[in-house]
Amino acid sequence: MVVGPARELEAVLDAAVEPVIACDGDECILHINAATERLLGWKRDQLLGKPVSELFPHRLQRFHGLSLPRYLLSRRKVLGGRPTRVFSRRRDGVELMVELTVGTSGEGEQERIVLTMRRLHEVIDTLEEPVEHVPGGPDTLPHHEETVDRLYRILVENAPLGIFHFDRAPIITACNELFARQLGTTKRNIVGLNLLTLRDERLMACVRESLGGRTCDFEGDYRSLTSGKVIPVRVRFAPCYREDGEVEGGVGIVEDITDRRHVESEREAHLAQLDLLFRSAPVGIGFVGTDLRYVRVNETLARINGVPAEAHPGHTPLELFGPHAGPAVQELLQQVLKTGEPLVRSESTTDGDLGLEGPRRYMSGSIYPVRTPDGRVLGLGVLVEDITETKRAEEERAHLYREAQEAIRVRDDFLSIASHELKTPLTPLSLRLATLERRLERGEQVDPGVLRHARHQLTRLTGLINDLLDASRIEAGRLALHPEETRFDVLVEHTLTSLEGQRGNHVFDFEPPAEPVSVQGDAYRLEQVVLNLLENALKYSPDGGTIRVRLSVNEDVTVLSVKDPGIGIPEDQQQQLFDRYFRARNASTRSYGGLGLGLYISRDIVERHGGRIWVESESGQGSTFYVALPTLAASRQPLPRAQGDRHLH
Ligand code: ADP
Repeated sequence: MVVGPARELEAVLDAAVEPVIACDGDECILHINAATERLLGWKRDQLLGKPVSELFPHRLQRFHGLSLPRYLLSRRKVLGGRPTRVFSRRRDGVELMVELTVGTSGEGEQERIVLTMRRLHEVIDTLEEPVEHVPGGPDTLPHHEETVDRLYRILVENAPLGIFHFDRAPIITACNELFARQLGTTKRNIVGLNLLTLRDERLMACVRESLGGRTCDFEGDYRSLTSGKVIPVRVRFAPCYREDGEVEGGVGIVEDITDRRHVESEREAHLAQLDLLFRSAPVGIGFVGTDLRYVRVNETLARINGVPAEAHPGHTPLELFGPHAGPAVQELLQQVLKTGEPLVRSESTTDGDLGLEGPRRYMSGSIYPVRTPDGRVLGLGVLVEDITETKRAEEERAHLYREAQEAIRVRDDFLSIASHELKTPLTPLSLRLATLERRLERGEQVDPGVLRHARHQLTRLTGLINDLLDASRIEAGRLALHPEETRFDVLVEHTLTSLEGQRGNHVFDFEPPAEPVSVQGDAYRLEQVVLNLLENALKYSPDGGTIRVRLSVNEDVTVLSVKDPGIGIPEDQQQQLFDRYFRARNASTRSYGGLGLGLYISRDIVERHGGRIWVESESGQGSTFYVALPTLAASRQPLPRAQGDRHLH
């Protein structure tokens, strides 16, 4: 590849370590080498044709009517080839101190001005060099008369903190490696940097403070000018004094607080999590100081206490909950504080123990001393849980358990009663049949009374079995009804007549109603109901007693009442009379046989006719059973609710 002389020259200049800038006689840039690009942050093409003054701060552009390059050229002899320290301006506006040498070649159109810059390493390296002051302001140039000895340098370099020094300008004149690393750049890039050009007001305030003889702390994020990397730093600024006591500059001690910030932000996150946990816990949590004043409570505890969370701090339970609940709570807290013994899961009720208003709620509370690691009591932790639901569930479970136990007992009772009841008619039946058999064998005459008794036992057995079958049909929803127009008054009369043989010395007192009473019903099943009521009246009242049977009627309802002078039914059992297998305590099972099914079957039949059945009774004072049925006219309308709902089924 053929390389032209110009290209060759460019390649040579690019290889140079120091920045070189070539301009024409009008000081317009013709070429910059790669080192210039690196130092000042410009790309070559961006600068071509631009005036070279762009590379210097405004204030350094003219001296004695001459541009900076021309001025330095005019002083070539005096300088004798030595560089001059000036600020150059990077593309991002940051000022860097450089050593500048200016040379020229050619004449007129051909004149070329060449500027060579040298990046200052550390000022301390160049202290022995003569320093030329640029006229125009003594502050723009650093003064360094001291030599820092080796030991001092070792000390500074090995310090675990970033350290930099700046003069009054304020230019960074020295720094240690760690500082350069903290900023993610090199010492070369830092030394000579004018802190002013960082344009950070807070930083500048600290610089001013230290130059004013005071220390000052800066904490913030530092964005590296070269890499753009952001690091959180804490910088302590302090003044540096000359021997004569004047402030000659300052020092910054830099701590990279990335790790600390990390730890802090983690701690903050943990605290935020804990706070969230505290606030959203479904358990009431509170902290009470040793003066028995609340320090803080969460929302749940505030709700339980019925006082807003923000109203708690600084107040005692007595102040918050008044004379009812206050003393009880205060006493518990005091007790734990005094004894140091925690109170664990103590249960109380809001209405009783705490004297709070509103529906009863069950609370479970724990109070425990909160201690520092060295055992000092800081205050009391309070945990309160509303256990009403759990309690209710427990009660419900206990209730269900009792019911299940009761059901088992009823079943067991029923089995023993049923087997007894079913067996009872069998013995006389078999005796009677044996008698008959004997008589027939002997050719003796058969007594129809024996046969009648045998048949009676059979009827009783059949009745019991029918009741059992009916009850199981009802349970399965299969008890069929065949309603038709039925004369209820005739039905009652007929049932009374059918009992003639059974009534013994009892008297039936029945007054048929003046008007016929018709209902839409299943005559067979309705007769079963009436028969059951009459049989019970006979069974549970002393022989010879009068059983009053009445049938009243109005337009919609006909009410049958059967009143006996019998043993009556205790008040607390009347509700259950119509339950399956229920037998009241009034009747000893030995003296009064029965399966406890008759009224259960009767209630089902009556209700399925749109009617109601109930009882009025007093223990030892007899009972009156009522059956209300819709009359034929009203059979398609529901019955109005009768009085005495308690006994109504
Ligand atoms: P049982 O076959 O036991 O008579 P019921 O269902 O007909 O069954 O009656 C249920 C219970 O109601 C009886 O065990 C008895 O305790 C009570 N009872 C029913 N009728 C009367 C009544 N007229 N007088 C007193 N107690 C009665």
